[in-house]
Amino acid sequence: MTAAAPQGAQKDSAALQGKVAIVTGAASGLGRAMALAVARAGARVVVADLDARGGREVAHTVGGHFRACDVSDLDANRALVEFTQETYGGVDIALLNAGVATGCGVGDDFDPARYRRAMGANLDGVVFGTHAVLPALRARGGGSIVATASLAGLAAVPLDPLYGANKHAVVGLARSLGPALAPENVRFNAVCPGFAESRIIDHLRGMLSEQGLPVIPAETVADTVLRILTGDGTGECWFIQAGREPEPFR
Ligand code: NAD
Repeated sequence: MTAAAPQGAQKDSAALQGKVAIVTGAASGLGRAMALAVARAGARVVVADLDARGGREVAHTVGGHFRACDVSDLDANRALVEFTQETYGGVDIALLNAGVATGCGVGDDFDPARYRRAMGANLDGVVFGTHAVLPALRARGGGSIVATASLAGLAAVPLDPLYGANKHAVVGLARSLGPALAPENVRFNAVCPGFAESRIIDHLRGMLSEQGLPVIPAETVADTVLRILTGDGTGECWFIQAGREPEPFR
């Protein structure tokens, strides 16, 4: 499976020179760090997000393009891929990262709109994004997809069970699509960070500091994505936690 390499080894190299990458949810947080990392490694980047202001800023920083996209909409995913092909001539990499916390449970606090929104971003975004980008990857002779799952996809999350369900589904997709897409020379992997530095954890900061729980720098997640992109593994779900070397979860 994946060849071992020291963390961040490819960080500043030109390992992705000539490649074209789409990064969803790239206006902030982990997606922003991923866009910066793949651009630093030589890729041309399309930043996709609902947030046009943040997305344009990141696109400007990486010398790429911004495309407004709601990943929960299949046609918007198709339009994103078409835009990238028209702009850069193809697509080699899709980092399907956009996501939201669910913010409701299944009891009295159940909120169907919140639930749908989270399913749309966290799960449909990965399924629709993969469906939309596959023909473009095939046209290049193959490519690489990395989905952002979560520690919540590997372990129980009583704090946000519906988010946990979304992310377990993404982990299941990575494990199944890895081998399923291998004959087409398309790799599919996932990253599974614990609490990482971004605005999605804003509502948890009090609890995290009270319990002395460390927060992972966004760059650590981005470095792991780079490591996956420059490796040869597929169907892997990389567990990322503070103070430990990221590794595929077995
Ligand atoms: P964030 O809120 O900083 O970034 C999420 C981005 O996704 C935002 O820019 C937002 O506008 C965008 N987005 C949300 N819904 C969208 C949609 N339907 N279409 C397009 N864009 C949309 O949070 P983050 O932590 O950087 O989140 C990135 C990913 O990382 C998410 O999938 C999240 O579930 C996952 N994750 C985060 C952590 C963490 O602790 N920060 C841990 C594990 C996994």
